[in-house]
Amino acid sequence: MTAATITATCVAPFATVSGCDLQVPLVQGGSCTYANFDYAASAPALAAVTDRIAELLPFYASVHRGAGYASRISTSAYEESRTSVSRFVNAADDQVVVFTRNTTDSLNLLATAVPGDVVVLDIEHHANLLPWKNSRVVEAADTVTETIWRLSVELERAPAALLAITGASNVTGEVLPIGELAELAHAHGARILVDGAQLVPHRRVDLTALGVDYLAFSGHKLYAPFGAGVLVGRRDWLDTAEPYLAGGGAVREVSLDCVEWACAPARHEAGSPNVLGVAAIAAACDALAGFDAEAAARHEEALCTQLVDGLRDIDGIELLRLWNDSTDSVGIVTFTVEGYEPGQVASYLSAEHGIGVRDGRFCAHPLLARVGRPGGAVRASLGLGSSSDDVARLLSALRSLVENGP
Ligand code: PLP
Repeated sequence: MTAATITATCVAPFATVSGCDLQVPLVQGGSCTYANFDYAASAPALAAVTDRIAELLPFYASVHRGAGYASRISTSAYEESRTSVSRFVNAADDQVVVFTRNTTDSLNLLATAVPGDVVVLDIEHHANLLPWKNSRVVEAADTVTETIWRLSVELERAPAALLAITGASNVTGEVLPIGELAELAHAHGARILVDGAQLVPHRRVDLTALGVDYLAFSGHKLYAPFGAGVLVGRRDWLDTAEPYLAGGGAVREVSLDCVEWACAPARHEAGSPNVLGVAAIAAACDALAGFDAEAAARHEEALCTQLVDGLRDIDGIELLRLWNDSTDSVGIVTFTVEGYEPGQVASYLSAEHGIGVRDGRFCAHPLLARVGRPGGAVRASLGLGSSSDDVARLLSALRSLVENGP
C-alpha cells in the first residue's frame, strides 16, 4: 500500500479520549502531537469517565461506613457500579461482581478459590500463568485447531477444576473462540476463566451467551484510570473461599475467638474501597455499552488493516503471529525491525516522531520465546482514539528508519 492510498482510507477517531492533543517535545527541537500506540498497556480515559470522576470527586467519602450524605452518595455509586459492570458483560444470576485492583489482582483472588487443578496455555500473560497453584501448562500448537485439540487431550487426561485462558493475546492480538472453549471445559467438568484484560476493551463480552464462568479485567485498559479492576463470576467458589484480604468490611461478626465472614463480594473486598476507581470503570462500561460496538470494531479493523498492510510493505519488518489459522484479532500488532533492538525502535519513534509504542517482552516471556523472539519486540496497539493519520505517521516513521537510519 502506498502513502497515497493510506491517506485515502482515513478513519477518524471513534471516540473522545483524553490526551489526544498532548504536545510532546522532539529531540530535533520543536514539538508535535502525541500519537498513542500503547492502548494495550493503558487506555486514556473516555470523556464520560473524566466527567464522572469530576462529578464524584468533591463528595467522595468512605463506602459502607457512614450515614452522612457524602458517604451515602459514595456507597450508592459503589454498589450501582456492580450493576453497570454486570449489565455490560451480561452476567448470569449466579455471577457476582467483585472489585479488585486490576486483572492481576482478580486472577490471584480466583486462584485462592479454585478447588482443583487449573489448565493453562503457555502463551499467557504472566498474570494468567503465575497465580495458579496447581497448574498444568499445555503447549500451544501452530494452529488454533490443534491448540484446542491439545487442551481437550489434557482435560480428558485428568480432571481439572478450571481452564484459564486469555480472551485476546496481549502480544499478537489474536482472539480465541471463547464459546467453543467454554463448551470444551464444561464437557470435561471444568469451568472456564477468561483473562479479558485485552478482549474487553475491544469486544462486547456476553458471559451468559458464551457460557463463561469467570472474567477478569482492568479499569486502566478500559478507558478508566488505574487502581480498580473486576472479577466477575460464579458465586459458589467465591462464597466459600478463604477471604482474599482479611479486615473490616469482609465480615458479618467478629469476636476475639471467632470470625463469621461475609459472602462474596464483600468477603473479598476488605478495607476502604476505591470508590472513584470503581465508579470510573462503571462509567466506562456504561459509555461503551452506549457505543455502536460493530462500528467501533469496523473502525479498529480498518486501522489494523492499514497498519498491517503498511508494515508488510516495509523491508526488514517482521510481524509476530501465534497461529497460522487464526482469523480474528483485536488491534494489537507486534513486530521486529531487522538491524535494530526493540528498545532502539521505540526510543527513536518517541524521540524523533512523538509516537508512543511499547517494546520488550510484554510480561509474556514464554510466548516470546516460543515465537523465536526471546529478546522482545515492538508492540503498536490501537484504541478508540486512534486515527488513520496516526497510523500513517507510524508507518512513515518506520519507513524512514529502515531507509535512512535513525
Ligand atoms: N492479562 C493480559 C492479557 C494483559 O495484557 C495484562 C496487562 O497487560 C494483564 C493480564 C495484567 O493486567 P494488570 O497489569 O492491569 O493487572
